[in-house]
Amino acid sequence: MFRRGDVGAAVGEVQAALVHLGLLPRQPEQPVFDQPTDWAVREFQQNRGLVVDGLIGPETWGALQAARLSLGDRLLSPASKPFAGDDVAALQERLAELGFDTGRVDGVFGRQTEAALRGFQREYGLVSDGVCGPSTLRALKQLGRLVTGGQPHALRETEQLHRSGAALAGKLVVIDPGHGGRDRGAQSHGLDEAAVAEDLAARLEGRLTAVGVRTVLTRGADSCPTEEQRAALANEVRADLVISLHVDRGASPLGQGVASYHFGAGSGAISTVGERLASLVQREIVARTDLVDCRVHAKTWALLRLTQMPAVRLELGHLTNDGDAARLADPAFRDVVAEAVLVAIQRLYLPLDQDPPTGLLRLPDLAHLSTM
Ligand SMILES: [Zn+2]
Repeated sequence: MFRRGDVGAAVGEVQAALVHLGLLPRQPEQPVFDQPTDWAVREFQQNRGLVVDGLIGPETWGALQAARLSLGDRLLSPASKPFAGDDVAALQERLAELGFDTGRVDGVFGRQTEAALRGFQREYGLVSDGVCGPSTLRALKQLGRLVTGGQPHALRETEQLHRSGAALAGKLVVIDPGHGGRDRGAQSHGLDEAAVAEDLAARLEGRLTAVGVRTVLTRGADSCPTEEQRAALANEVRADLVISLHVDRGASPLGQGVASYHFGAGSGAISTVGERLASLVQREIVARTDLVDCRVHAKTWALLRLTQMPAVRLELGHLTNDGDAARLADPAFRDVVAEAVLVAIQRLYLPLDQDPPTGLLRLPDLAHLSTM
C-alpha cells in the first residue's frame, strides 16, 4: 500500500501505467508520488468504480495492471487461467457483438468466455482450441458486427429474468452478511458491522423462506470468507440473486444514509438487472424509513464483478452517525429493512403492469403473489 509522498520504483511503475492510460501527461523524472500522480490515481479510481482514496492498495494496483492490456497484447488461452484484464473485456465485447454469449462483460476469462470463443472458432472454420491467437484475432477484427442496437449481454440478462417467471417460490437467493469472524467491519456506538449484518441476514432469511425462496448464507458467525470466495459460492450454487449486507462508517460523524451498489464499469459494462434490483432495494428502504437517500451507484468491487448473477451490496446507514446508529440498534428498524429488501426482490420478478406503488406491498400480499 503506498500513497502521496512515497518514493520508489513501484511509484514509477504506477506512473508509467497512468501515462499509458493518458491520465498523466508524461513520466516524471523522479519516481515521486506527487500531487499530479495523486489526482491521476483518483481519476483512474473514479473511472473504474473503485474507492476514490488516492491510495495504491491491491485492488487499485490490480486494476492498473489489467487496464494496460489491450486485445492482442498477450496470448489469451484457457491454459493460463485465471487471468483478467481489459484485453479480455475487449474480447468478450467483440464476441458478444458477433452473437456469442460470453455472459457479462467483466474482463475475466472464465468458462463461458472460453466456450464462446470456441463456438466462434468452430463457426468460422478455425481450430477450436479456446486460444485467442493470431488467426483468431485476425478473424475477430475482420468480421463486421452481426448484432446491433446496444449491448447484447445486457439484453440477454433481462431475457433470462423474464423467462424465470414472476413466482418467488423456488428462487435461490444468496445472502451475504459482510465481514465476520475476527473482521468486525465498522464499529461505533457499541455496535459492530459484522453482528448487525448477521442479524439483518437472519431476518431477511426468515422472510424469504416464508415465501418459498431457498437461501444460502455466505458465512456463519465465526468465519470471514474473502470476497472472491463469497462470489465463488454464489456461482457454485447457481444463485438467482446475491444480496450483500453492510453498514458504512464515515470520516465525519455527520455522514449518514443508505446507498445501494451494483456491478458497472466505466467502459459501459453493466449488470442491468443488478442495477434494477439495487434501485428497487434503495427505493423501498427510503420509502419505509427516514434514512437519508445516498442513492444507487455502479462499482467493480470483487463480489459484484465476479458473481455471474445480479448482485447488490447494501450499505445501510453510517454506524458513526448518532441517528443512524440509534436506528440500527432498534430490532423493529431491522425488521422494516428486511421487509423492504424482500419486497424489492419480489418486485424484480413482477411484470411491470402488476407492480403496485412503492411502500404498499406487505408480507401477506407477497405470499399470495408468489403463488402466481
Ligand atoms: Zn462493510
